[in-house]
Amino acid sequence: MVTRADLEERDRNDPLAPLREAFDLPPDVVYLDGNSLGPLPRRVAERVGEVVERQWGRDLIRSWNVHGWIDLARRVGDRIAPLIGADRGEVVAADSTSVDLYKLAAAALEASAPQRRVVVSEHRNFPTDLYMIQGLSRTAAALSGSGSGRPVELRTIGSRDALPEALGDDVALVMLTHVDYRSGELWDLEETTRRIHDAGALALWDLAHSAGAVPVDLDAAGADLAVGCGYKFLNGGPGAPAFLYVARRWQERLRSPLQGWMGHAAPFAFEPEYRPAAGIGRFQCGTPPILSLAALDAALELFDGLDPAALRTKSQALGDLFLELVDSECAGFGLEVACPRDGQRRGSQVSLRHPEGYAIVQALIARGVIGDFRQPDVLRFGLAPLYLRHVDVWDAVQHLREVLRTRAWDRPEHRTRAAVT
Ligand SMILES: *Cc1c(COP(=O)(O)O)cnc(C)c1O
Repeated sequence: MVTRADLEERDRNDPLAPLREAFDLPPDVVYLDGNSLGPLPRRVAERVGEVVERQWGRDLIRSWNVHGWIDLARRVGDRIAPLIGADRGEVVAADSTSVDLYKLAAAALEASAPQRRVVVSEHRNFPTDLYMIQGLSRTAAALSGSGSGRPVELRTIGSRDALPEALGDDVALVMLTHVDYRSGELWDLEETTRRIHDAGALALWDLAHSAGAVPVDLDAAGADLAVGCGYKFLNGGPGAPAFLYVARRWQERLRSPLQGWMGHAAPFAFEPEYRPAAGIGRFQCGTPPILSLAALDAALELFDGLDPAALRTKSQALGDLFLELVDSECAGFGLEVACPRDGQRRGSQVSLRHPEGYAIVQALIARGVIGDFRQPDVLRFGLAPLYLRHVDVWDAVQHLREVLRTRAWDRPEHRTRAAVT
């Protein structure tokens, strides 16, 4: 059986171990929620300070040119590109994941044949993804006035096996989340994209729980569209801009439904008619949030030159270790494993189930082990390979065992639901 000393040894031999120092992590915390909000990279605090005080404070509006604020969203996109198998000029940081989904789904529907009006997704997908398509459908129906033309329809599948039969010749777009937020289960991105294309539809991938921890190769898979989060494994800070990807072959054929001036071919020509910019820039809308973009840009520097495969190897090892320790230390307390045991099929998280999941997570947080809870009974632990040590996994599982053994969760304060779980 593995011991804590074995894991100290693993940490000493971990090529990614020095990166932990780049984060300002509280010393008494085991942080297993980097899949919800990445921790603060030290250089982000410095960079934001400089952008606020020197760029905004001293150089004022000149900074749009002098400090390149006007191109920052595209430069950040180019920094994200290697993490998701994209080329330069295929990614831009903009808006939120929800808004980016809307823009890309609407663009894909507009470019599809009129008889293809269905967007296929999973019933268990992260709800905002479904809400955005429901809203798009409602708006499309309302604006079509006479009701002429087919309405946009969301078709959800209840299990992954149901995908083939959902792919009729009325489907324009399939919108899937690469790593399931609740179970951590992965889709085979390449094989699924091929199946979607065989059915004549486009593939829109949500990489919210992939980018920064689970490498994907969008270009190699022939993916069409993708979105993802800046504040999860990319550590861009609360409310960091999201990113969107449009494969080069689609860029001149797709148009954003949100035609803001920052997506115009010549924003400072102040022309009364909209003309989309060439390339990925047309998917921007309004003025970008420079402070947040600067924070994300600085956070992304940590990934420069890193081999995404090394991140994956460590993240799988941490997940395997977590499950091995849960099996050996926490048997008999009613926990169930709710994520794939096979590391190849699992994203960068471990999910467990327990009827008292919420209270158990609260009791862990009270001990400094921060994970989170997802309805109805899932305890979720994000495993970020940049800063977690193998001993952190050991310590987390020891705390989990103690919370279960002593029933430390069984207190009123641990059952009171906060607004954010
Ligand atoms: C976290 C997450 C989002 C978040 O969307 P925002 O608009 O950035 O709040 C969207 N989709 C998935 C799958 C997520 O996990």
